[in-house]
Amino acid sequence: MKVHKHDAIIIGAGGAGLMAALYASKGGADVAVVSKLYPTRSHTGTAQGGIGAALGNLDDDKPIYHTYDTIKGGDYLTDQAAAKILAENAVDAVIELEHMGLPFDRTSEQRISQRRFGGHTSNFGERLVRRACHAADRTGHMILQTLYQQCIKNEVKFFDEFQVVDMIVVDGVCAGVVAIELGTGEFHIFHGKASFFATGGWGRCWSVTSNAHALTGDGAAIALRRGVPLQDMEFFQFHPTGIYRMGILITEGVRGEGGVLVNSVGERFMERYAPSAKDLASRDVVSRAIYLETREGRSIKNRGYVHLDVRPQTVNRYFAEEGRDRADFIDDATIERKLPDILDFCRTYLGVDPVHEPMPVQPTAHYAMGGIPTNVEAEVIIDAAGAVMPGAYAAGETACVSVHGANRLGTNSLVDLVVFGRRGGMRIAEFVKGADWAALPSDAGGEIRAEFERIRGGSGGSRPGELRLRMQQTMMDNVGVFRTDETMQQGIDDLEELRERFYTDLHIDDKSRVFNTDLMEAWELGCLLDLADVTARTAIKRKESRGAHSREDYKARDDENYLAHSLVGHDGNLAAPSYAVNFDRKVDLSLWEEEIAQGVPEDQQKFRPKARVY
Ligand SMILES: Cc1cc2nc3c(=O)[nH]c(=O)nc-3n(C[C@H](O)[C@H](O)[C@H](O)COP(=O)(O)OP(=O)(O)OC[C@H]3O[C@@H](n4cnc5c(N)ncnc54)[C@H](O)[C@@H]3O)c2cc1C
Repeated sequence: MKVHKHDAIIIGAGGAGLMAALYASKGGADVAVVSKLYPTRSHTGTAQGGIGAALGNLDDDKPIYHTYDTIKGGDYLTDQAAAKILAENAVDAVIELEHMGLPFDRTSEQRISQRRFGGHTSNFGERLVRRACHAADRTGHMILQTLYQQCIKNEVKFFDEFQVVDMIVVDGVCAGVVAIELGTGEFHIFHGKASFFATGGWGRCWSVTSNAHALTGDGAAIALRRGVPLQDMEFFQFHPTGIYRMGILITEGVRGEGGVLVNSVGERFMERYAPSAKDLASRDVVSRAIYLETREGRSIKNRGYVHLDVRPQTVNRYFAEEGRDRADFIDDATIERKLPDILDFCRTYLGVDPVHEPMPVQPTAHYAMGGIPTNVEAEVIIDAAGAVMPGAYAAGETACVSVHGANRLGTNSLVDLVVFGRRGGMRIAEFVKGADWAALPSDAGGEIRAEFERIRGGSGGSRPGELRLRMQQTMMDNVGVFRTDETMQQGIDDLEELRERFYTDLHIDDKSRVFNTDLMEAWELGCLLDLADVTARTAIKRKESRGAHSREDYKARDDENYLAHSLVGHDGNLAAPSYAVNFDRKVDLSLWEEEIAQGVPEDQQKFRPKARVY
């Protein structure tokens, strides 16, 4: 196997990977980025609505308000010190992106324009605030292009269309990764002092998802197989507005511009579920409301979807009722200018023109709050006490730092990428200066190569495509927006059967080596099965409702027993793993503890977890 030696191996070229690569290289490290996709095709490029930062360009805003919203939005599972770092660093991260050349939309004073998003408030929940900085509805695309250009300028080395399939751990130290060059099918070893996982999410576990085809959770699954427990896997966010049946995302920015959700009797039902935040209540609340409307027979045509209406006549009528400034009123041109891609999706894929008709939407699997646990320097953690695996780093959607707690606020993922990607890159630059090279084991890559031969040689009766569909359906039905003991057990049983077929009865048609997508997708299915499994197994053990984890049999949040992160690991026996789940990792509550130490009376403490029943 060909061996490549670089100080830092960055796995993934989305926002998190590119930001880490840029900062590690600026700090003097020799950096290689290994990515299964061409960098600018990473999912970060599809992010629409914006990146949150308390710039205060249009309304009164401060990082401490952003911190508060992040903690409250995460239903108090958010690590408070990490949220503070996120909110404080967001401001200069956005300004830095602007200085790198990112073309943000502008206010009339030529400052960075900002829009409303769910859960973004001023003065600790007092009123909605404009915090999301945006470049039309293509914010992620602009971030990705900007960072890629900066990496090229900094002479970062790219290995495009190389898929990482294993991690090399020697005596508890990460010594690099094993990858397959997709164009040739050859295995390569990437030997590094530091390996940084930035491989994105795993929405492909569910049948209706906003996530791109490539989001199969490879990095998290690889880490799990090599002994890293995953954190908070039971929390997966359903975004309320995916295009009916296709799952393609309609950004929350549509509601930020005034769009409203309407049921089959023409009612703006969010006024009932969330009287003050209404359509901009947090995503878990809105997704559950759509399901409840459906259950009560008020979805459109009884088909499980509702309408998202951003027609100027509708929006302006509600704005008038709310007494909003006339300057806020919108017309056709406003929508065309601020939401061009959304209009394009709807016109192309649905034949619906949102300027004249409402859009059919339903909840869509969107974002992994859990993942590879890290500290705030992006170092990978391997136990409840926070012990670090030397040489291993992670950030972005695959990681869990944890700033999103039980439910991520809109626009906070893009912030997470740039803030913790940058911190990780800086930490790596320091680390590689002093660290020694861990020697590679003589059989590096042997085990994973054998696993690929098994998959390639499979001549059983189960095709990956069929197993994948079954997995996605059972996850959608049983481990989705609403959960009970019974549904989750059904999910676990189904997954056990699917896993058994995957390991004993697989069949793939293409036996070649060159660009063998059949083979790679079969291997990715194994990753998805692992992650679906740990999602269901931690979810069933968390006997409460919190954020995105909503149980009909335990409707209240239970801080006494579950104000803690879950950690799930398995014993590495892929065909029939045995799992261990615990809730031993404490949530960082340092801001609340500061309030207590300062003698703030209980009813005025901002960061105290406030009881909630769903
Ligand atoms: C449609 C959509 C809209 C969104 N809108 C917003 C928004 O407006 N605001 C917001 O804050 N968040 C938004 N999000 C969430 C946010 O975009 C993502 O969470 C974030 O972009 C993830 O970035 P990342 O760097 O972690 O990974 P990604 O951008 O997903 O990149 C993953 C990278 O890893 C590589 N990779 C994966 N597996 C392997 C492997 N095995 N070997 C080698 N390379 C691998 C891929 O090639 C890719 O380069 C949106 C998400 C979606 C799906």
